[in-house]
Amino acid sequence: MQTERQHTESMLKDDIPLYALVAIKGLPISADGLFTYIIPKELVPSVRAGLLCSVPFGRIKEAQGMIISLSEKTDVPSDKIRPIISLGTDETDISSLSEFRLSLALYIKERYFCTYWDAVSLVLPFGKMKTRKRQTKIKDPLSDIERHQSESVVLNPEQQKAYDEIKKGFSSGRAHLLFGVTGSGKTLVYIKLIDDVLSAGKTALLLVPEIALTYQIVSRLYDRYGKSLAVLHSALTPAERRETFRLIANGQKKIVVGTRSALFAPINDPGIIIIDEEQEGTYKSEMTPKYSAREVAAFIVKKSNSLLLIASATPSFEAYRLAESEKIGFSAIKERYNGGPLPKVLLVDMHDEISEGNSTPFSSLLVSEISQNLKNGEQTVLFMNHRGYNTFVSCLDCGEPVVCPYCGVTMPYHKKNERLVCHYCGYSIPVPSKCPKCGGETMKYSGIGTQKAEEDLAAIFPEAKILRMDADTVSEKGSRNEILSAFSRGECDILLGTQMITKGLDFPNVTLVGVLLADTMLFSSDFRAFEKTFSLMTQVVGRAGRSQKTGRAIIQSFYPEHRVFRYALDQDYAGFYRNETAFRKTMLYPPFCDICQVSFIAPTESKAFDAAERFENELRNAQGDMPLRVIPAKATHVPMVETKPRVRILLKCIDNRSQRKILSDVYLSFIKNPANKEIRIDIDMNPANIG
Ligand code: ADP
Ligand code: ZN
Repeated sequence: MQTERQHTESMLKDDIPLYALVAIKGLPISADGLFTYIIPKELVPSVRAGLLCSVPFGRIKEAQGMIISLSEKTDVPSDKIRPIISLGTDETDISSLSEFRLSLALYIKERYFCTYWDAVSLVLPFGKMKTRKRQTKIKDPLSDIERHQSESVVLNPEQQKAYDEIKKGFSSGRAHLLFGVTGSGKTLVYIKLIDDVLSAGKTALLLVPEIALTYQIVSRLYDRYGKSLAVLHSALTPAERRETFRLIANGQKKIVVGTRSALFAPINDPGIIIIDEEQEGTYKSEMTPKYSAREVAAFIVKKSNSLLLIASATPSFEAYRLAESEKIGFSAIKERYNGGPLPKVLLVDMHDEISEGNSTPFSSLLVSEISQNLKNGEQTVLFMNHRGYNTFVSCLDCGEPVVCPYCGVTMPYHKKNERLVCHYCGYSIPVPSKCPKCGGETMKYSGIGTQKAEEDLAAIFPEAKILRMDADTVSEKGSRNEILSAFSRGECDILLGTQMITKGLDFPNVTLVGVLLADTMLFSSDFRAFEKTFSLMTQVVGRAGRSQKTGRAIIQSFYPEHRVFRYALDQDYAGFYRNETAFRKTMLYPPFCDICQVSFIAPTESKAFDAAERFENELRNAQGDMPLRVIPAKATHVPMVETKPRVRILLKCIDNRSQRKILSDVYLSFIKNPANKEIRIDIDMNPANIG
């Protein structure tokens, strides 16, 4: 029998040329494609698809590229074909792509409206990194964590039932939804499944929605799995990330925990991918390629015949519908693991507080419950959506708020440095002494952010120890873990924070949760606004009473009668789902279709609107009889990008290959059209947030 090598040599003797189709680094999408090169004879034995290479490109002597496929034939005239200059090394799996990871890159290219190189560099660990000259010190992300005796895992009957059901899907290539109320012990079920996967000699990947949530889960998994655990998230330095990838690729790390990009770790032979809190928007990338971690994970498990477990106490409607229609597996855990009740939820009407002269963000009920907790030595978690001191500053005379010149949104006031800071682009200015518009001399500070809430809280409870956790206090590396571990050691009474404290955290001594203003997300132009508010309420309420002590939650709102809060009060997910999906079905919204957001950034607003109209017309011409509905253009929620106006249209469509092809063709022809050269267009299928 001929070996592969001998086969190649015989090909050489016969002088059959070998061609490579190469993706080139750094091309704009309008010029993207695969380019044909010939492989010089001496490189033929070592060439394969998935290797990096350098090639001449146009006037560039040596451009970086990746070999996407090989072929013995080409239609390109031979005088147009130049040879590859050199090939990347194939020493480890991490400086090139295996066949499997190359197919992953191609999947991303086909789905997410990006260039080949965008897709390749997402999957390649260092594609997007510059090489660093200076050696940085590599710190093991686990080195701060103390290892304890691992908990013994004895599942209760409901957990056991769910575990047995899920386990049947091992090696199925399919997905399964675990719908478990907060505190039902989903993590324990994950651990049992990971144990099984490891004993079958395979590896496991667990995704969490944000870094703050890696802290608790990592310490639990570390106790159990020690050094075979790897942690991957965006706060690692490039050197740390590279080292972690190396250890994963060579098999020393068998369990990977991380945020969405951990999906691209070079894990060998995955047995399970678990996505915790699967409904979270952070699983959808907002940067090109705008991939969905759930979709990519589904692709990986299908290709590798492993299992995708998605889990939540408030599944996305998309996931719940798939489960209802039996397209994916389904298990539920309806009780908290210790049989304890879910927290008792109380709604407070903030109008009443105002009419009683209370101008703080703390209702009298919340104040009395917090004092109760302080007396009992129990801990409290308070959630508030906005960071900063005041949410905006405006002129008392003309009423005009100060907005970011780049983004067009109001700029919150930060007391620490006495500045107004744009939370979108980071631009900051000293507080103006006069109104930039009318010259009025009195500026009014309105809206309460976490900094002011912290101050008010300290004034009401001078004896309480308060920790604030928001993007400002966790900006330093490691400070997330410090805050959470101080809280878990009981060194503080009240943890006040933004979204990052609302999910996943499991502190047995937390018996009270307060939502300072629940309405902030309710009335946005996002069709998911109610779903998101319901989910957030359920998650945050679920932080309380997770151990022996019963929990309670106080939701403060100006619309306490709103149906979202009514369902949240009863923690009735199924009821809310039925009610809300009836509306979505009538109006045709996901999960009954897909939504593609196309946005246009132009020098003026009218040019942006014109561009949207041109795109819409082209699309209608291209669509023929295909079903598609367009929601007319409007300015986005953040109305400008780098001083330029932005508008968007929404397309109700079906995210399948043929509709993506039409969209992608229209998108490309739009970009290539000289009439659109001032326009920046962006396309996002099923964005997590509708702008
Ligand atoms: P979820 O992720 O479903 O909200 P967790 O997995 O964080 O819940 O579990 C909540 C708490 O209950 C944790 O402190 C966990 O240790 C405990 N727990 C869950 N299941 C069991 C079990 N079978 N035996 C002992 N403790 C458990
Ligand atoms: Zn800005």
